[in-house]
Order: sequence, then C-alpha cells, then structure tokens
Amino acid sequence: MKTNLLDFDLDGLVVWCQAQGEKKFRAVQLFRWIHQKGVADFAQMTDLAKSLRLTLQDKAELRALPVLSRHDSSDGTIKWMFSVGEGNAIETVFIPETDRGTLCISSQAGCAVGCPFCSTGAQGFSRNLSTAEILAQLWFAETSLRREFGTHERVISNVVMMGMGEPLQNYSALVPALKTMLDDHGYGMSRRRVTVSTSGVVPMIQRLSQDCPVALAVSLHAPDDALRNRLVPLNLKYPLAELLQACRDYLAYAPRDFITFEYCMLDGENDSDAHARALIALVRPAHDEPLPCKFNLIPFNPFPASGLLRSPPERVKAFASLLSDAGIVTTIRKTRGDDIAAACGQLAGDIQDRTDVAGRRARTERIHA
Ligand code: SAH
Ligand code: SF4
Repeated sequence: MKTNLLDFDLDGLVVWCQAQGEKKFRAVQLFRWIHQKGVADFAQMTDLAKSLRLTLQDKAELRALPVLSRHDSSDGTIKWMFSVGEGNAIETVFIPETDRGTLCISSQAGCAVGCPFCSTGAQGFSRNLSTAEILAQLWFAETSLRREFGTHERVISNVVMMGMGEPLQNYSALVPALKTMLDDHGYGMSRRRVTVSTSGVVPMIQRLSQDCPVALAVSLHAPDDALRNRLVPLNLKYPLAELLQACRDYLAYAPRDFITFEYCMLDGENDSDAHARALIALVRPAHDEPLPCKFNLIPFNPFPASGLLRSPPERVKAFASLLSDAGIVTTIRKTRGDDIAAACGQLAGDIQDRTDVAGRRARTERIHA
C-alpha cells in the first residue's frame, strides 16, 4: 500500500524523504504543499523536481477519509461524519464564531472510559485513530471550507481535541498530529489555540507537558472521588488528588497560566450548592496555594438511553455564581449545533450503532481489565 503522507509530522516526513534519497528542504516544501496550501495532487506541486513528483506518485498518497454525511446547523455549525473502515465512523465539528473558527476533532472510534453521560462512551471502544486519521479531519475541513468560502486565508484558527475519544489514551498518534498543527510549515497555530481535553490520564498529562505542551482542559464533573468514580470511571485509576497535582505540574509548561476545568451539569447529580462549595474547596485548599483555573460549565446534552437530565438554566446560573463569587472565572458553554446532534457529548458515529455492539463492549472490557 502507498504511504499516507498525512501520517507524518515534519520530522517524520524528513525521515521518509531521506529514505527516498531526498534532502530535508524537499520535505519542508512537500509539507507546505500538503498542510499550508491543501494540495493533494503531486502533479500540482510545481516547485518539486519532476523526478520527485514521479516518486511521490508511485509510492505515496494523501489518503483523506471518505465522507459519509454532512449536516449544517442553523447556527452555522457543520458536522461531518467520516468512515474509518469496518463499520466505524467518527465525527468532526466546525464551530464558526465572529473572531475565530474552531474545529472539534475526534481521536478514537468510540471511547473506553465509559462516562455515563457521554454518547461516545456509551458506544464502547473500537480503536485508536492513526495520526493520518486525526490530521485528515483538519486537512479536509480546512481545504473544503476554504474552497466553499472562496478564500486562501486560514478558516480554522483553533483546534479542540474534544470530539470522540480520549486523546491521551491515543498518545503516540496524537503528538505528531499536534506538532503538525503547531508547525510553522504546517498549520502554524499557536499553542494556546490548540486544546487537548482529557478525562484525566495522569501519566500522559505529565508526558504531554514535556513533548508538546498545548492548552489543557480537564473534564472534572465532580468534586469528590466517590461521585467522580461514577461519572468518570477513569477516576478509579487516577483519583482527584493525583489529577489535581498533575494539573499543577502542567502549569509550569502550559501556554496559558490556568487549567480549564470542564464540568457537565447533570440535574440532581453534581449540580447542588454543596457541590459548588466542594469544588471551590478543591481548587482553593486551605493547606496549599490556589490552583489557577477556569471553569467551563457544560449544560448536559441529553441523548437517548442516558437516563440523565440537564440541570435547569437557573441551577446552572446559581452554580456559576457561587464559583464566580469565590473569584473563579466561570463560563457557561453555549450549546452549538444541537439541532444536528453536534453538541458536546452527542457524537456517536451513528452508522455503527447497529453493528458489532457486542464486539465493542468486549474490547472496552479488555481495556479496563
Ligand atoms: N475524552 C475527552 C474529550 C472528549 S469529550 C474528555 O472527556 O475530556 C469533550 C467534553 O464533552 C468533555 O468535557 C466531556 O465531559 C463533555 N461531554 C461528554 N458528554 C457530554 C454530554 N452529553 N453533554 C455535555 N457535555 C458532554
Ligand atoms: Fe470518553 Fe470523554 Fe466521553 Fe468520557 S466524556 S466517555 S472520556 S469521550
């Protein structure tokens, strides 16, 4: 099979080009054609030697993902569903705002963490995406939106790894993808504009701080271990004290001077005044320095069979006020794209819901074992 060049960050492409007898600067040129200009056809890469273009045609390709569907929300949000083979699908969401364009990218087909409020978690784990499959989402969205909007300027300014899957459980594929987003010869995004969201894979938070420190969002959802064990089962492995210490350590390397905590507001589960006070105590402990953080409250987006309810708007506001009054910057996430099931936690890659559920459960259980 031909080599998919979307699988490489610049260092990887240099190694591949050198194996073809090409110099480093050729890899840089090629990388720019692919990621800056969005060109997939080697014949169009006019400043590459003819012989190299022929080698590329022979040995390499830019293998994008087949699009299964596209939905456009009334608010401008766009959701694509891509096939990743064997009945698996992933979803990618573009969220336009006045001052930026954000792409929400998936890192796995399914997810093994199994948070009960998340439809990706409810479907179980199929497999990790490759670097190429992660980058193909960005490459495709950027190139097709530019064509659609009739511009050569960048359309996507921000990336959030908040689609399907737990990015830090697919670390080796994630890091080259992040590096390509940041690379000046790639997408040239600043570290602050690339966010990894994690349910709390503590050792990988530590590795990310060394390998590629981008903005970090941590899905907290509960102020104590008993409740978090239930809402984010990974907490059984990495309890809150360890997670918060990893957040503190990450700050020394992070591009921002705070950690974002995401908190899904679930009616009657984690949304009382007592929960808010416990959260304040957690990030402002009496015996330690306060942990610099912001809270992002996400009203729960229901999906069939979760058995959970969204907190009423007044409850979310009251909860936010308690945190704000304690001096913690708190925002309530606007729901975008909920008319096309593109909001947080609604991404499920629906085509596969009817296929191989038993197989996915078995894989999920193996991962937890
Ligand atoms: N696995 C990573 C990233 C993907 S989920 C993580 O958990 O952080 C991105 C965000 O959406 C997380 O904060 C997650 O908790 C939240 N989320 C998941 N399901 C949701 C739902 N049904 N309603 C609202 N937010 C949800
Ligand atoms: Fe996985 Fe994140 Fe969903 Fe939890 S919230 S099941 S970690 S994708």
